[in-house]
Amino acid sequence: MQENQLTKTLQTYGLICHTVAFDELETALQNRIRIAGSNDFENCYLSLIANGGNGFWQALRSSSTKPVKEQKHPVDEFSLKIAKKIIKHSGLEQTAQILYPGEHTVPLMELGKLSGWSMSSPLGLGLHPEFGPWLAYRALIKTDKPLQVITNKTDKSFDPSVCLSCVSTPCVNACPADAVELGETFSIKRCADYRITEKTTCERQCHARNACPVGTEHRYSEEQQAYHMERALMALVAWSSKTGGFN
Ligand code: SF4
Ligand code: SF4
Repeated sequence: MQENQLTKTLQTYGLICHTVAFDELETALQNRIRIAGSNDFENCYLSLIANGGNGFWQALRSSSTKPVKEQKHPVDEFSLKIAKKIIKHSGLEQTAQILYPGEHTVPLMELGKLSGWSMSSPLGLGLHPEFGPWLAYRALIKTDKPLQVITNKTDKSFDPSVCLSCVSTPCVNACPADAVELGETFSIKRCADYRITEKTTCERQCHARNACPVGTEHRYSEEQQAYHMERALMALVAWSSKTGGFN
């Protein structure tokens, strides 16, 4: 019953989940996670929750009559609401703690890699075997027992060198700023420098991300892409004017 309810909740919101035992993580990763929690982590479990594709966005849009764009922190607030619901259905309310969203930075991408959700790519984003670049981490929950959900650790055989065998490298060709290079680290500087110029064509979408052939059926809607890109651009412009940008 509990497992069914939890799994149903995840499916309703277009989410996937994977639980790991904290004690089995490498010490360096454990130390980075400890910063976000006020309690002891020994014998605890961490459940990473991510949206795969655009089901989460559809659910978010339906959750309020107020347009998403006009809300202050709609994605985090909605993620928190769902995380609380998941905890309630798990029967672990007394001991569970939401580590993300929150005020601390937690190593979501590293935990995603452990779940098989995130293969390195030149996009500066992890590639998921099914969802491609259309996956985002939404919550990290600490519990003293594993969540009884159908786990979404990927068991598909996925070639981690998929990018190296991607002959036409459409992501590289699509980026107008040369920020994406096969075999190179994604250049945040080139991307950011280009995006804050008036000639940018990346206000509402990342051409490189859209060009990737992995998981295209899960691509975010234009509205969802525009929302995330516009918010990121505003933050980038504010940061750049405060700090002088990348040198
Ligand atoms: S377009 Fe090809 S090289 Fe680029 S991220 Fe996708 S699979 Fe990798
Ligand atoms: S946002 Fe634009 S500049 Fe940045 S990686 Fe994507 S396509 Fe390139």
